[in-house]
Amino acid sequence: MITNSLQAFYYLHKFNNIAYWNKDKLINFQNKQLRSIVKYAYDNVPYYHKIFRQNGLNPYDIRDTQDINKIPILRKDIIRAEPEAFLSRQFDSNNLRCLSTSGSTGKPMLIYINSKEDLLRKARHLRANTSCGQKLLDRWVLITSPNHFGTSTKLQRILRFYVPIPVSVFSSVDEQASKIERLNPDVLDGYSSSLVLLAKYVQENDLNTIRPKFVIGGAELVDESSKRVIEDVFNVPFFDQYACVEFDRISWQCTEKVGYHIDSDSLIVQFVDAEGNEVAKGEKGEIVCTSLFNNAMPLIRYAVGDMGVESYEECSCGRKLPLMKVIEGRSDSSLVFPDGRTISPRALTVAINMFSDYNVFDQFQIIQKKIDLFHIFVKLKDVPVKKQFLSRKFVEYLNRTLNLSNNLVTFEIEFVDEIPLRNTGKLMMVISELSKNNGD
Ligand SMILES: [Zn+2]
Repeated sequence: MITNSLQAFYYLHKFNNIAYWNKDKLINFQNKQLRSIVKYAYDNVPYYHKIFRQNGLNPYDIRDTQDINKIPILRKDIIRAEPEAFLSRQFDSNNLRCLSTSGSTGKPMLIYINSKEDLLRKARHLRANTSCGQKLLDRWVLITSPNHFGTSTKLQRILRFYVPIPVSVFSSVDEQASKIERLNPDVLDGYSSSLVLLAKYVQENDLNTIRPKFVIGGAELVDESSKRVIEDVFNVPFFDQYACVEFDRISWQCTEKVGYHIDSDSLIVQFVDAEGNEVAKGEKGEIVCTSLFNNAMPLIRYAVGDMGVESYEECSCGRKLPLMKVIEGRSDSSLVFPDGRTISPRALTVAINMFSDYNVFDQFQIIQKKIDLFHIFVKLKDVPVKKQFLSRKFVEYLNRTLNLSNNLVTFEIEFVDEIPLRNTGKLMMVISELSKNNGD
């Protein structure tokens, strides 16, 4: 435990140094690490061995970030079709940390990370936060899934260094507000949709007792007007971080907010057109990432499902990590319950992620039809399932997890072969038909 904490601090220190390296030094570092992960993936991960051979590639053909384009883009559906082919033979999955993603389309997928990757992710998270001014002893309150509670080390808890104090994303916004008020955070952090709801609650109830130094949001795209609501209500800056379960933080705002610094010392982030070719800087492209350190489950040229732009600009903060902007991504609606609670879309998808039979779900979508009526489409994997039993268990689970008293709302579960697309053609996980602004 103590070793873990010290290692996390060591990595944080190292990452903070790398952030100021010049471009050539950073690219050399990326290339060296890329060669290492490609060779490792070829030797140990069945999918990469197969895909290299199919494409007539040798791991030594991939020398730098240009050569990486010889490797085909990896889409989520390829992993979902044969997940075991992505795990390194060097690891036993029972000894790995397993993270569940519902991604942008409600399609579940499991991501495995080894302990070094876990430490590196924590250090990168801290680099992003400390770049916004978070200090060692700051009280850091994080609105998150109970899944993430208690992942801090014993030493960290004793010393209270950089340990987030969790507030459940499932709690109602008034419960969250009173807990956060008591915790008196210096840094308020969490899912952006939860922070927007909290800010609106604080505004409506004229609370002026929650006074962080700044607010950090992430894991969801947040529009400019929502950012302004958070900044106006708390009267402090809001810093956004772009992240996903597959890679953790990808890019983040520093105090200058020129763009989002890319974690280029741990990831190669590319922006590609429909054919998978890299677009020029300043042009919009699909975001494709390569993880340089996760040996347990290497992801090379993986399409995250969002659109972004790499920036020409350099940041006045002095960090040389390149800048990007995310311009199109996951966006879902908030839901309202008859007891007056508004619940963030992330709370609902996280709840579904934690359902014990989630592994038989291939895809899902939630639509709020009325204040007390929710329709849930579920596409099941091709496995034997007692649908009626599953449906009843799922409804009971949702009522319990979301603290809904009996018959307050109705969940209609419909098993389908395909999840219907909305008018935009974009697949959304959480849709409210109560509000006009539901993305249609
Ligand atoms: Zn900067």
